[in-house]
Amino acid sequence: MAAIFFNPLTTQTSVAFDTTKKGSDVARALEQRGYQITVPEPVTRAILERYHTAAYISAIETGEPQELAESQNFAWDPHTWTSVTAQCGAMVAAVHAAMRDGRAYALASGFHHASRARGGGFCTFNGVAIAAGEALAAGARHVFILDFDAHGGGGTHDIIAGWENVTHYDLTTAQYESYTPNVPHRRVHVHTATTYIPTVNALLADLDALVEPADVVIYNAGMDSYEGCDIGRLTGVTSDMLRTRDALVDTWVRRHNLKIAACLAGGYQGKNYPNELLIQLHRESVERICAD
Ligand SMILES: [Zn+2]
Repeated sequence: MAAIFFNPLTTQTSVAFDTTKKGSDVARALEQRGYQITVPEPVTRAILERYHTAAYISAIETGEPQELAESQNFAWDPHTWTSVTAQCGAMVAAVHAAMRDGRAYALASGFHHASRARGGGFCTFNGVAIAAGEALAAGARHVFILDFDAHGGGGTHDIIAGWENVTHYDLTTAQYESYTPNVPHRRVHVHTATTYIPTVNALLADLDALVEPADVVIYNAGMDSYEGCDIGRLTGVTSDMLRTRDALVDTWVRRHNLKIAACLAGGYQGKNYPNELLIQLHRESVERICAD
């Protein structure tokens, strides 16, 4: 059984938002179905300093300067640090477990809008970039980042663009963070739902040619492209398409015998996106990726 990581400290913030609250719901849904959840250590300041500037890390820790401490668009509170380091710790734990056991899931957000020197788009510290970097530090030869959250992972690109041995493919359905990546990284925007799954297939086929010497995949498995999601939706993208997308990623990873560490990423309950469905989609993603 692949390890699933969630730290309850994630919810210890006054910010009541899907990115701070839903991990707990997904953990409970998994536990009800017999899955064991492992509580990881929070990420350390020493690890954060490899990916973010000291000034920004201090701002999140102390709340000062306020403009920087709230650059992700949340009101800062003393538990902001507790929550985000708990989530990024789950990412680090997942990548280490994936390198050891082949697959793991962090019930944490990838926070792909966070750049090196500041936050953005509800993202404080970039768990995707941290996971990729920690994979390399632990001996990975080459890391693929598959970011299939609805929005662009410009923060991730800001951090990893100069690195060797990381390839970042970003599939978007929403315009937010429409950065232009440098080669070999790609950002592909899907305008119509009928091209969503074909584009997933095309990106994976493209990576077939690059798969040697890659050994680790960081998968940002957002559920915010769903047509009912107020933040990120693309009309016509159904819940079944998101299930199909995860199945394609999972099959591709297994076919190439790659290791995978996945995380929740976007997905925001609303009038047309009941929390039950949102949690179900995330839970099913965990069950698929973590299956023996
Ligand atoms: Zn998103």
